[in-house]
Amino acid sequence: MTKNFLQNLNLLTKNMIDELPICDIHVHLPGVISPQIAWDLGVRNRFISVIKEKNGKYVYSSGPLSLSVLDPHEHYIDIFKSGFLLDENGKPQNLEYNIDADSFKDFDRIMATTQGHRHPPGGIQTKDDMMFLLDSYLEDCVRQKIFYTELQQNIKIAYLLFPDDEAKDARKKLYLLFQDVIEEFKQKGVHLRFLHCFNKTKAAGDEKTTHERTLEAADWLEEAQKITPNVFVGIESAGHEKDESGWPVHLKAGYEKVRDLGLGCEAHGGEGIGVEHMLDVAKSLPITRLAHGFQVIEDIEVIDFIKQKAITLIMMPIINLNLGLCLHVKQNDNNEYIPCAKTKGGKKIHIRDFWEHPFFELFRKHKMKITLSSDNPNIGGVPIKDTILALAGLSSKYKLPKQVYPLKAEELAILCKNGIDAIFSTDHIKQDYKNLLDTWIEKHNLDQEFINNYYGKN
Ligand SMILES: [Zn+2]
Repeated sequence: MTKNFLQNLNLLTKNMIDELPICDIHVHLPGVISPQIAWDLGVRNRFISVIKEKNGKYVYSSGPLSLSVLDPHEHYIDIFKSGFLLDENGKPQNLEYNIDADSFKDFDRIMATTQGHRHPPGGIQTKDDMMFLLDSYLEDCVRQKIFYTELQQNIKIAYLLFPDDEAKDARKKLYLLFQDVIEEFKQKGVHLRFLHCFNKTKAAGDEKTTHERTLEAADWLEEAQKITPNVFVGIESAGHEKDESGWPVHLKAGYEKVRDLGLGCEAHGGEGIGVEHMLDVAKSLPITRLAHGFQVIEDIEVIDFIKQKAITLIMMPIINLNLGLCLHVKQNDNNEYIPCAKTKGGKKIHIRDFWEHPFFELFRKHKMKITLSSDNPNIGGVPIKDTILALAGLSSKYKLPKQVYPLKAEELAILCKNGIDAIFSTDHIKQDYKNLLDTWIEKHNLDQEFINNYYGKN
């Protein structure tokens, strides 16, 4: 049945994807730091020295400033894979982050060092550093026709950017700075909002407990709302699922407070230790959006629970693949492997091909409310339009085999609608986006009835 209805839908082209205005609602601010930007920050902040030798060649070494002893890297330069060279202008060529395949830990360590606030000093140290990378993100947004984006940043970074101010004043300056940034983005047609995102595990390097830090998050969001309404529009928590210090029981009180303030609640879940953890997140926290969530495929009852709670899954298949895509499976009577929760006898396996990501099945067979995002477009992940190209079978790097139907244009429109419906900002933005999307749908003669009735008639 799936195949028949898919056959009648329109194929996507690269041009259609380029033209599509899009929302990218799950983006970690440090994740927009490309290796080149991280390098520039390292040079600016004297973690890296670049010297021109007598023969005219440039060489680099660790600079005069050191990272904190608590930083997971000994030297800032360790965040890059070795073996790159500098060109005739002293710019590094083929610079890559030092992330091993499947290593969430490497990725998280690099995030900690580049974002700076977990173990200061790090990549971001000053207001100028922050503006430098937000300006480059604005260019990315314009290039990709991103209409609306929510950037996740820990409010704590205020203490780094405004070190001479009392904590409260520093936070206030951050809210005002971000309010100006929102205005700057708006001039270029990009609607930007922020989420306060904190590492929920011990990796945060904070002596406060997770429970205390979540309540603190709620207080800061309330404060931000009073000073600059509609700048920080919700809460997010991140960190490795294995670490029990970050489990939902510790987050619950703070999240409920945020919900009561009328702000948005999102959490990560279902990308690490299994569907059981994801169910715990969805049951314990007042969330309307859940990031990743692909391990829900392990248990049909949890699929039904998430649907019934009207939680939108925000999926980013490529970063999952790059940081270790694991599912629990068992063999059925035909010796085929089928997803199965660990507590129901499933054994963990790694998935190596992106088309085997549960996205297609969760969206097509189970009709879950899903939208796509980039997560960390320049660290570990890829920009959102590249994800779409891959799902549409138009990427040279991530290929779809013949037996998988590429993402069709009508399906993409549904994913886009789901995204705008789930945003944490005000309503007029939603309508403006829907108008743009409708124009795209009409221009390409898409099957509007299919799009409008995908989840059943209202
Ligand atoms: Zn994320």
